[in-house]
Amino acid sequence: MIEPHASPNDLAQAGWADVEPHYERLATSPLDDVEAWLHDWSRFEELLGEAHSLALVAYTCDTADPGREEAQLRFSRDIAPRAREQNVRLARRLLETGYSTPRLEPQLRRFRNQEGLFRDANVPLFGELASLSTAWQKLAGGLTATWEGRAVPLPALRVHEASGDRAVRERACRLHAEAVLARRDEIADIFDEQVRLRREVAGNAGFASYRDYAHAEKNRFSYAPSDCARFHDSVERTVVPAILRILDRRRERMGLDALRPWDTVDGMYGTADPLGRPPLRPFAGGGELIPWMQAIFTRVDPVFGRYFETMRAEDLLDLDSRPGKAPGGYCTSFPFRRRPFIFMNATGMDSDIRTLLHEGGHAFHSFETYTSQSLQFLRHPGAEMAEVGSMAMELLAAPFLGREAGGFYDPADERRSRVSHLEGILFGLAHIATVDAFQHWIYTSDEGRDRDARDRHWAALCDRFKPGVDWSGPTDWRTARWLAQPHFFTHPFYYVEYGIAQLGALQVWRNSLRDHGEAVAAYREALALGATRSLPELFATAGARLVFDPEPVGELVALVEEHLAELLAD
Ligand SMILES: [Zn+2]
Repeated sequence: MIEPHASPNDLAQAGWADVEPHYERLATSPLDDVEAWLHDWSRFEELLGEAHSLALVAYTCDTADPGREEAQLRFSRDIAPRAREQNVRLARRLLETGYSTPRLEPQLRRFRNQEGLFRDANVPLFGELASLSTAWQKLAGGLTATWEGRAVPLPALRVHEASGDRAVRERACRLHAEAVLARRDEIADIFDEQVRLRREVAGNAGFASYRDYAHAEKNRFSYAPSDCARFHDSVERTVVPAILRILDRRRERMGLDALRPWDTVDGMYGTADPLGRPPLRPFAGGGELIPWMQAIFTRVDPVFGRYFETMRAEDLLDLDSRPGKAPGGYCTSFPFRRRPFIFMNATGMDSDIRTLLHEGGHAFHSFETYTSQSLQFLRHPGAEMAEVGSMAMELLAAPFLGREAGGFYDPADERRSRVSHLEGILFGLAHIATVDAFQHWIYTSDEGRDRDARDRHWAALCDRFKPGVDWSGPTDWRTARWLAQPHFFTHPFYYVEYGIAQLGALQVWRNSLRDHGEAVAAYREALALGATRSLPELFATAGARLVFDPEPVGELVALVEEHLAELLAD
């Protein structure tokens, strides 16, 4: 048993040699009381998980401290992969007992699935694949461009890519794309090798394609590759026409004959305001962000307001950007003390509000499962439902962003913020379909091994899902975009989850327009179920369905367009 006074801090300096005996004990201790053994295993996972999270938070809050870097690497590189192996071993032991309860069954199904996919021959291949991912990350993370005589990392160009001055935007976007394209062959070398190894992994596990293997490996019990193809089709038929209407309106408002890559809203290129206005500046720093967000979360549901208050009181928020902090934002968890933690780099932008709403949704999901689920394995339902938790929060909070509701904006700015959110949802769905369809093709077609064919196929998919932009000229904009998409290199096939979740979140939002209280109650109930139900059951509890077909997807797109029309008419 874990000692009653154990604390994650005891493991702060731990190496694998300190962790291993705990697993050995769990793997060999008598199993006459499976339930007690499960709790023992779970409590150790909480302890180790929290020690890892503490190291991650410490490092990302101060990346210049070599001691913190060392500790975080010790957990992520030495301990975590070995702990995963030990978890497979313990899961096998659990399966051998034949023990089951209805709440545990969805998780047991995952354990059985992973057990069935495991092949000794694949272990060294995973190691090689991890090194190739790191190679891509190093290459992509090290890219720079020369801006006004100074070498700057590519993310520093973002602000110029959104400039109100069209010539500045074009210059920044072009430098960004050219910096990626200059390394195209090196990136293709890395990817060729990844495609080859992934095909080998799938073959070893007895699958006809890596696509089919990846679907199985991601525990996708509720939808098949053919459902993803239906999703692509629905996006083409319902989202793309809506995007063309948005782009057309945009082109008119900007007074242009044609939209160029630096005029559009597609992740990497151009997030320009169509009227050339400066970016929204809703708040000055985290000190202002927190009380406003407190009011907004409370309006969504007083329980969420209390969760956020707990996070403030217990110092579980690190929101302001400052030198030395790692980029980006995340929500991690301290499962031993049963609390979430939110990290981000707020600089006073509209997107910071959306990031905190998103991570807040993840954090409240954790609170709900800590209260209702006693075992660590029963808390995380998988990415599809986890992202419903966060994406629905972005939508549920939308009515409260205005100043009169306690939020940040005067009516005009509020409309602007909501338009960019809703348009972003549609652009996001088109990008998700492009990314997912591309991977289906890469791993099921022989041409997927040919680097030139890959660039051509990506361009064809952009014609299918992202029309309305004039890509002509010497710069190969589209190739630059796919070469910079991390998932292809680091998390293959992890993307369609966002599309499935967004369609679920839109349904929760639709319910809230009829009855806010009822919709939020159902959403909370679904979050509290953690991983104890199948994905369709979790969706149903939240008041939604898994949807892939043009009709239900089209209804949600129409709802978004209706709201856009209202917001733009005022
Ligand atoms: Zn998320």
